[in-house]
Amino acid sequence: MTNLKYGLYRSMWSALDLLFPPQCGGCNSSGSRWCEDCQRRVNVLTGILCDVCGLPQEVAGVCATCRVDRPHFHSLRAWAVFETPIQNALHKLKYRHDMSMGEAIAGQMKSFVKNLNWHVDMIVPVPLGVQRLRERGYNQVAMIAKPLSMALDYQYAPDVLMRQKETRSQVGLNKEERRKNMHAAFRAGSGVKDKTVLIMDDVSTTGSTLSASAEALYFAGAKDVYALTVARALPHHDMRHV
Ligand SMILES: [Zn+2]
Ligand SMILES: [Zn+2]
Repeated sequence: MTNLKYGLYRSMWSALDLLFPPQCGGCNSSGSRWCEDCQRRVNVLTGILCDVCGLPQEVAGVCATCRVDRPHFHSLRAWAVFETPIQNALHKLKYRHDMSMGEAIAGQMKSFVKNLNWHVDMIVPVPLGVQRLRERGYNQVAMIAKPLSMALDYQYAPDVLMRQKETRSQVGLNKEERRKNMHAAFRAGSGVKDKTVLIMDDVSTTGSTLSASAEALYFAGAKDVYALTVARALPHHDMRHV
């Protein structure tokens, strides 16, 4: 499914590739931004997943954790397991200002998102706080969410959700600490009223950021909130580099 706007966006990055031959975000080989080998090596998260939090489990349905303590979003799905090469690619996008990486990732994950069959009105990247946005200069999630919205014909709505407090990094925090850290972190505007919203982040662990986002979106009148991440850090995975 390709439309004109998305085609133009892609060709802009392709033209830049001709001027400045890129290195692969996954393996540093030269020639393309996201090489075929890395594309093949992405460990897509499949198998039996909890209907709500999207973590792998033994039996279908809602997992024991979500039954006791249900997150605010309707359902969370991640495209890939958070490990190389996607881990390298997301790191490059986040810390090395390689914005073209976002388009490459969106290009590969769009059919996965389409096949989820969620009837979404708008896609909203999880916003950064003002201070972090100033430091980094861009929101790395927006660099994936925007081309994805174009490819799938969803409205792209980066301004309907705001971070109303600076939160500390979630690295090293347990689930309860993460939830406290994210409490009341977000505020949503009236543009989400009666809309089905897809909230998007690059990586999630416990889903606490997405749950806090979903709570704010529902509070502002959203009809339904789904959550999507590029990658999911599974409990046994090393999170030191997020
Ligand atoms: Zn590669
Ligand atoms: Zn669950």
